[in-house]
Amino acid sequence: MNASLHRGIGMTSLRTRERMIERLREQGIRDERVLAAMGAVPRHIFVEEALASRAYEDTALPLGFQQTISQPYVVARMIELLLNGTTARVLGKTLEIGAGCGYQAAVLGTLTREVYAVERIEPLLARARKHLAQLRLNHVRLKHADGNLGLLAAAPFDSIIVAAAAARVPQALLDQLAPGGRLVLPLGSSGNGDQILTLVERKTDNSGYSETRFDAVRFVPLVTGIE
Ligand code: SAH
Repeated sequence: MNASLHRGIGMTSLRTRERMIERLREQGIRDERVLAAMGAVPRHIFVEEALASRAYEDTALPLGFQQTISQPYVVARMIELLLNGTTARVLGKTLEIGAGCGYQAAVLGTLTREVYAVERIEPLLARARKHLAQLRLNHVRLKHADGNLGLLAAAPFDSIIVAAAAARVPQALLDQLAPGGRLVLPLGSSGNGDQILTLVERKTDNSGYSETRFDAVRFVPLVTGIE
């Protein structure tokens, strides 16, 4: 994809995006594949027009429906954890839970050919569809569904990324992770700032899972059901 060909993306946004990439480097993001993907996706088309000038700041921004578009650093960090900074690992078939308006799904879509993203709020999903179509990321498949159930029809997944905080890892997601697969999610209750970005790896011999804890983060809660 050549995002710079996209209508309405001028030099200003390219330069601010370059600055965003520099900042991500300073914040410790090392994987060049992740940095390139973050640089290829114009974040401003995902936020409302009134906020577009702030699209490249390292901050979460409101999406409506009491949801937020994730902070660039957190998007980059989660994907980097899935890749583990080794050039050997690729994302493979990837599932995102909580697509929101589709920003992280777009970044994933520049890194792998097989992406499924589910979102429980239908109007947000409609916006995600529009944004991904604008960027011609037609291989990113969006579903209106409760992510607690994973996406059985497309399982197993090599990578699963959860963009909403859960007190524990939903069992369906553990089940739908391929042997050797990786899942990253904010673990902990929402609101009081004690969520921890956690990496769950399914052992290649299928003998169980291991869990590693990383940064403290703040996400909206993973809730049940669709609307
Ligand atoms: N990935 C988005 C972040 C969206 S915020 C980005 O790139 O900016 C988290 C999203 O998770 C919200 O849109 C919320 O509606 C959704 N969500 C919460 N619980 C969910 C569930 N059980 N199933 C699917 N989506 C869920």
